[in-house]
Formats: sequence, structure tokens, C-alpha cells
Amino acid sequence: MTEAADLLLTGAEVHALTDPDRTAEAVAVRDGEIVRVGPEYEVRFLEGVETDVIELDGGVVLPGFIDAHTHVQLLGQYELHADLWGIESRGECLDALRDHAAELDAESEDADSPSDDWVVGFRYDESAWDADRPLTREDLDAVSEDRPVAVFRIDVHSASLNGAALERLRDDLPESDVRTESGDPTGVIVEDALDVLWEHVAPDREDARELLVAAQERAHRLGVTGVHDMVRNTTLPWAYRALDREDCLRLRVRLNYWADHLDAVSEAGLAPGAGSEFVRTGAIKSYTDGAIGSHTARLGEPYDDNPEEHGQWVIEPDELREIVADAAASDFPVAAHAIGDAAIDAALDAFENADAALEDPNRRYRIEHAELADDEQIDRMAAAGVVASAQPNFLQWAGEGGLYDRRLGVERRKRADRFRGWLDAGVPVAFGSDCMPMDPLYGVDQAVNAPTDAQRISVTEALRAYTYGGAFAAGDEDRLGTIEVGKTADLVALERSPWEHSEAIDEIGVALTVVDGDVVYGG
Ligand SMILES: [Zn+2]
Repeated sequence: MTEAADLLLTGAEVHALTDPDRTAEAVAVRDGEIVRVGPEYEVRFLEGVETDVIELDGGVVLPGFIDAHTHVQLLGQYELHADLWGIESRGECLDALRDHAAELDAESEDADSPSDDWVVGFRYDESAWDADRPLTREDLDAVSEDRPVAVFRIDVHSASLNGAALERLRDDLPESDVRTESGDPTGVIVEDALDVLWEHVAPDREDARELLVAAQERAHRLGVTGVHDMVRNTTLPWAYRALDREDCLRLRVRLNYWADHLDAVSEAGLAPGAGSEFVRTGAIKSYTDGAIGSHTARLGEPYDDNPEEHGQWVIEPDELREIVADAAASDFPVAAHAIGDAAIDAALDAFENADAALEDPNRRYRIEHAELADDEQIDRMAAAGVVASAQPNFLQWAGEGGLYDRRLGVERRKRADRFRGWLDAGVPVAFGSDCMPMDPLYGVDQAVNAPTDAQRISVTEALRAYTYGGAFAAGDEDRLGTIEVGKTADLVALERSPWEHSEAIDEIGVALTVVDGDVVYGG
């Protein structure tokens, strides 16, 4: 007699998201594994006295979402500091910061010892404001003259400081990444200069643990069952492993360690894939350039709204080449951040130089973002099997008259994030959010309803990039990413069908999230 299942999901429209997609009515799960997918009557054979049966009333069941590019630490920081997401004017943004400063004042009056006096804000986005210019020192001096004020732009590639913050950090900031006007700092700092700031906002171990518990809950509400975390100078790796030891981690995590840590990670025996069911080592992460919004993405031709500016190298091409070669020597693939066309060239050159993509088809090289890939670069990625780790939510800036229109001009705006072209060329695509915001259904909606034909893909393709795509990018496709017998039971059920409501996928609710066979949300 067959052993009974632990959990049955029935009355559903189950999409395996294999290629081609297969549908079924029900799924059975035992010991964290999918044991049957098929018609209701067949799956019901596995119902025993102790089996939980969840009737989904026509809901759609998919493999759990994998967010292939996240910074989970940021999710927690948005809650601890002033979160400026969605604010539509400079005035409102400054008001929100003033309110936050007043809260801190009130707290430090209550406290026995005065707490850290920094006022910190996250994810401001000036691109929707009347004047598309970053926050300045003067703007922020109006928030506070005494407390240091620091506000990170949404892309986290630039930030703005008030006079007090500039004064405090002056000696530590690399001069070349401090923007000036007639010799005076404007308050805007970019790229490497932000490292100094991070020290003031990095959580300690216990905070990281708490932050992670909150972030995990949030991920489950969104149907996310796996993340690829790009960790850097953070206590998060410690917190993930601590929760895992306590059997409290219900998120499958790939830690993509920073290139600075290659030797340590390699010596510690943390080879790619090393770890537990839940926490595993991924790729080595590096930068090449910055971001479009901050004028730091490295372009072949100058910015449309600043003919002097080509963007910048955060890591010079020669240095990247060394990083990739060193990583390959230790059997690590590299995930290289590259947004501008010049940067994508540098990343592909480095990968091809290490020649490892061809040597070992299981070593998954990745270009993070890859936004402005041109036709030749797309072909090179397809030929070498380099994964495009893309963020469909970035299309929020790619509409007519939007941020990319101003920064890049019409031709390059239309060339950004051409998911249709990438898939047609055979590039493996993994979707992630970069936490802008974390929300797979919002991203899927952006890709399905993208501004141009070359950017638009089908519902099935977009969902597959947010499930199988992430699994493939980490070499995890035998274990995760589709609904098939033998795979881990990481599942999400949606209240409505994204195929039937393709014009507003972002409004569809998550009914249920299952990780490793356990219901972690809804039900
Ligand atoms: Zn990122």
C-alpha cells in the first residue's frame, strides 16, 4: 500500500511551469517533497487520516517564487528607518524625514543614554518629482542642522547628505565619489563613498536575526519561497545560518558572497552548493558599473541628459578579469553587476577570458541586470549560457517620458530590458526584484504589460523566469523551480489566474505559500 501524503492541494489549476507548461488539478506532498501531480481522483488516493487537505476553490498553484537578486537586509532597513518609497514630491519627502527625526528626538528623550543620532532614509526616487534632480545638502539641512541626515536613493548607488553628515564623514569619503559644484560638495555621494555610510546603518547580529524573521514573513506573504541574497558587509549570513540551526528558516537562500571574500569563502570550504537544505553558497558577486538613475551605469555613448557623462567603473575591467579568473580557479562562477552596454562588454570579456563557461556547463555565470545589452552581447550570452539576472520591475522607469527616456533617450530606453529578444535568442533569464520592491507579481505584471514588443513576454514566460529561472541560475533546477514529482514542495497558490487577469497581475492576491511541505502563509 502507498504511504499517505502529508498535504493535498485540491480543486486547483496547477501549473507545473515546465517547458512546455503542464496543468493538473491537484498536488500531493510528503516529507517536504512533491509525490503526485495529476487529476483530483488520482491524487486523492494518497489521502490518509492524518493528511491535511486544502481545497483551493479554483485557485492557481505555481512553484514558489524565487527572487534571484535581493538584498534582504534592505527589507528590514526600510522598516527601521524612514521609508520614502512612493513619495511623489521633494516637499513630502523632506516632511517624512522631518517626522522621522522628530520620532528619534522623542525616543532619545525617553532613553537613558542618547541613541545613535543619524537620521536615515531609504529608497527615495526623484524621477517622478517635478524637477528630476537629486536631494541636495541644502534640502537636507532643512530637515536637521544638528543631526547628520543621510538618504539613500532607491538604486542604492547614490545617496545625499546634509552638512552635518558631510562634516562627520569628510575624512573617510573617497574624493572622486563626492559630487561638487564650483568646488563645494552638493551633498550627493555615489558608489564607493556609500561604503562609509553603510557602517552607520549595518545591523548587529541580534538585529539581523530579528530583521530576517520579519523579512521572511514578508517574503511568504508575497509567495516568495527562495532568494538569492547579494550579501556584503552584513551580518545576514550569520543570521541565516543561526535561524537554520534552530529550524526556523523557511526560505531557501543562496548566499552570493562578495568578491573581497573569495579567499575566505574558498578556504572555509564553502564551495558553490555547499550548505544545508535551506542555506547554500551561490556565486561570487562583483560590480562593474553603477546604475542609470544615478548616472553611474557605464555607457558606450554619453547620457542624454548629461553629454559630459559616460557613467563610471566601480570595478575596472582589468580588475574584474582578475576576479573572474581567481574565482574560476576556485570553481566559483561570478555574478557580475553590469547595466550599461560598456559594462556588459567588460563582464562578457572577463567570463570568456576565464573560458570557464564553456569548460563546465554547470557553472552558472550571471550578469546582474544586463539592462542595455545590445544584439551582439545577447548572442554572446546565449552562446556561453550566461544567465541574464533581470529585474522586470525596472520597467517602471522605461515608459515614455520616464526616467530612462530622460537619461538614455528614446532609442536606448526601448533597448533596455528586451526580455522578448533575450528569450528568443536563447539567453537563460532569471527574474528578481533587487528589492525595488520585492514583489514577484508586480514584476511579472511589468514584463507582461511592458512598453514595447521587444520587452513584452507571455504570462507563462514571466512566471517561469520568476521560478525555474532562479533555480537554473543557481544550478538548482533538479530540486526547485517546477511542480514535478521528486522536487521540493515549495509552492504558491494565487487567488485568481494571472492568465485570465493578465492586465492587472499585480492586483492578484497570494492565497497560500508552502515551503518544504509546510504551510507558511495563508491556508
Ligand atoms: Zn542589487
